[in-house]
Amino acid sequence: MIYLDNAATTRLAPEVLEEMLPYFSENYGNPGSVCSMGTAAKRAVNGSRESIADSMGAEAGEIYFTAGGTEADNWALKAAALAHKGGHIITTRIEHHAVLRTCSYLEEKGFEVTWLDVDRYGMVRMEELEAAVRPDTILISVMFANNEIGTLEPIAEIGALAGKRGILFHTDAVQAYGQVPIRVRELGIDLMSVSAHKLNGPKGVGCLYVRNGLKLGPFVHGGGQERSRRAGTENVPGIVGFGAAARRAVRNMGARTARETALRDYLLERLLKEIPDCRLNGHPRLRLPGNVNVSFSGIVGESLLIMLDMKGICASSGAACTSGALEPSHVLLAIGLQEEEARGALRLTLSEENTKQELDIAVQEIKQCVLRLREMHI
Ligand SMILES: *Cc1c(COP(=O)(O)O)cnc(C)c1O
Repeated sequence: MIYLDNAATTRLAPEVLEEMLPYFSENYGNPGSVCSMGTAAKRAVNGSRESIADSMGAEAGEIYFTAGGTEADNWALKAAALAHKGGHIITTRIEHHAVLRTCSYLEEKGFEVTWLDVDRYGMVRMEELEAAVRPDTILISVMFANNEIGTLEPIAEIGALAGKRGILFHTDAVQAYGQVPIRVRELGIDLMSVSAHKLNGPKGVGCLYVRNGLKLGPFVHGGGQERSRRAGTENVPGIVGFGAAARRAVRNMGARTARETALRDYLLERLLKEIPDCRLNGHPRLRLPGNVNVSFSGIVGESLLIMLDMKGICASSGAACTSGALEPSHVLLAIGLQEEEARGALRLTLSEENTKQELDIAVQEIKQCVLRLREMHI
């Protein structure tokens, strides 16, 4: 199997699994217990908290563990909004559904939402963002990097604007964290969502960074875990794995992303050169190291995916299956693609484990499949 779907999830790194294993067996203490097994578990949880804080230039007390990126997004947006009786929220049309649907929910609850358009590369335009700010704007939420097309957003500029206007700034950094250096203070970020399974950590665990001094109500109510802001007995093995994955990601970030970038550019160049009517989606330079997103005219991405899967290649398309129907991606439509082009999209997301030989095979298979599909007109 050639795995080119690392934006969907990544392989748990063996050394991460190694660190987690004792917490599934002998080290089963509850971090809330005062006995020595409990305090050992608590130490492990707090060790991860420190590693994760270090990795983003935060303090340990600013990291709150959640059950993943979706929960962190829901918490950040709902709690930031509910601190007010009403008000105005600014986000973009290209957010992950965890942000989009949470903002729609808040809209139903009486908040006003501005959905910013993006340019043809998927980038927020600063003039439009500035023009959208109102006296009652309480929150700006813009993702760090897009999960479909890989475009990196102007986070430092948005953070500076939000800071100047006294507006809270949340960013969904699930795709960017571990792939690009992030310093929350320098970037003016107040709230940031991260998920472990996108950086070779386990699924079902993530965190929300909450800037010191920010009063954010809890999302999950109950016990006093996570300084009474996120109740529920801690996912100790998951949190230990998340910490290990964060240390690993920071340690090898430079070499790993340089390798991924070189592979990405090689793959993209070959696809564009060797397959007619193939176009790149997203920004040519300001994009995630491992992300390639292309559209092939005259085909349906889903058909291509199934054919590639039969050849042992795992990739992703630009469509989302909503309520049983195949909808073209909201991100591809937002960057101006016609429905037909959006349906013909293919996302290939790399890890440092991919080899040039794998990419050569993938290009060959994609080329053949695209030509076959075009002949068959499906
Ligand atoms: C994967 C992803 C999420 C969801 O994270 P989970 O941990 O799977 O809930 C949110 N935002 C982005 C940008 C993602 O890529």
